[in-house]
Amino acid sequence: MNPAEVLELYEATGGLLRGHFLLTSGLHSDTYLQSALVLQRPEHAESLCRQLALAFNGDRVQAVIGPALGGILVAHEVARAIGCRALFAEREDGVMRLRRGFAIAAGTRCLVVEDVITTGGSTREVMRVVEEAGGILVGVGALIDRGGGSAAFPVKKVTLATLSVPTYRPEECPLCRSGSPAVKSGSRK
Ligand code: ZN
Repeated sequence: MNPAEVLELYEATGGLLRGHFLLTSGLHSDTYLQSALVLQRPEHAESLCRQLALAFNGDRVQAVIGPALGGILVAHEVARAIGCRALFAEREDGVMRLRRGFAIAAGTRCLVVEDVITTGGSTREVMRVVEEAGGILVGVGALIDRGGGSAAFPVKKVTLATLSVPTYRPEECPLCRSGSPAVKSGSRK
């Protein structure tokens, strides 16, 4: 799948909506991404994540790790394609960490994945988890980069498609100014 086909798949499954949305951050946007709607079809999860995994062929990845919740399915399917372990990190008292007995042995070659990267904040938190465990960070992957490619990492970064999604404070939102009401993201259109 080329980037346009990846976005078409998101649109076809309702995972990419255009309109006027109130994001959980409180900002407004004309685009809303919900990867869960794409990934609810295992065949889509499999094909997208296999493509992501292929980009790390030759990087000798030993563990794939994503942030809960959005990164869990992606980590699992990428790991299946690579043939290695899938882990997830989750926040406890606001700090991203490994729980549930998950462990990364020192020297383990780790790939950090997400469904969608915007600023890369939670990806960086998971990178820190890997580094603190003594793991070797081989790369970062995501299905969609919704930040226009602006999130930079000190390791190889691969995304299947890039979107530049502007966000607005409500008082500056051109969509509000044109009179349309903002719909809370997560509720249906
Ligand atoms: Zn608005």
